[in-house]
Amino acid sequence: MDHSLIIAISKGRIFQETLPILERANIQPTEDPEKSRLLIIPTNQKNIKLLIVRATDVPTYVQHGAADLGIAGYDVVQEHGGLGIYQLTDLQIAKCRLMVAGFDKSILKSKDKLKIATKYVNQTLEYFQSKNQLVEIIKLYGSMELAPLIGLADLIVDVVDTGKTLSANGLKPLEHICDISSSLIVNRASLKLKHKIIKQTFGALL
Ligand code: AMP
Repeated sequence: MDHSLIIAISKGRIFQETLPILERANIQPTEDPEKSRLLIIPTNQKNIKLLIVRATDVPTYVQHGAADLGIAGYDVVQEHGGLGIYQLTDLQIAKCRLMVAGFDKSILKSKDKLKIATKYVNQTLEYFQSKNQLVEIIKLYGSMELAPLIGLADLIVDVVDTGKTLSANGLKPLEHICDISSSLIVNRASLKLKHKIIKQTFGALL
């Protein structure tokens, strides 16, 4: 029987907020991924390893079984589509909101096609389709706030926490699409075959 567990996680805010949760499950990484170049990080438990991947890649690693478990934001799982992935528990960390933002709310009443810059293509299309608003999506990978400033887009769809990034760039949060937090996710095969070790390790959280 395979008792190993591989957990895919991204560096930064999610990792920092996951550390106390891992600690409660008696998992301590032996290296700090912010300082180390290691991408497979051992832990104090020799059967448990962390894979350090891009946040948007976490569901892909889990879906294909390259990782048993992962810690990923709702935004990222939704954008991926969630095929073959189960949410074990909402960890209530890395909380933020997916928002439409821009200079002024009045543009949202426009009958014309709106240009929206975002990396959340699927969620943006779904949201504006539900409002019967025609949109053209301009896919960006970062610095979305720049797009309305230089006339590349009318609006952006992005994650917002304090709203400081928006206001620093003269933008306002206009519409709330959904609340976001990060969850422990698992693939079907690992859930079935490694149920015991997952329960032993994370039982207190489930
Ligand atoms: P803020 O200025 O506090 O509203 O933060 C906004 C920026 O921080 C966004 O452009 C995101 O890139 C990033 N951010 C904030 N919260 C999260 C989160 N939970 N997950 C991923 N990125 C986030």
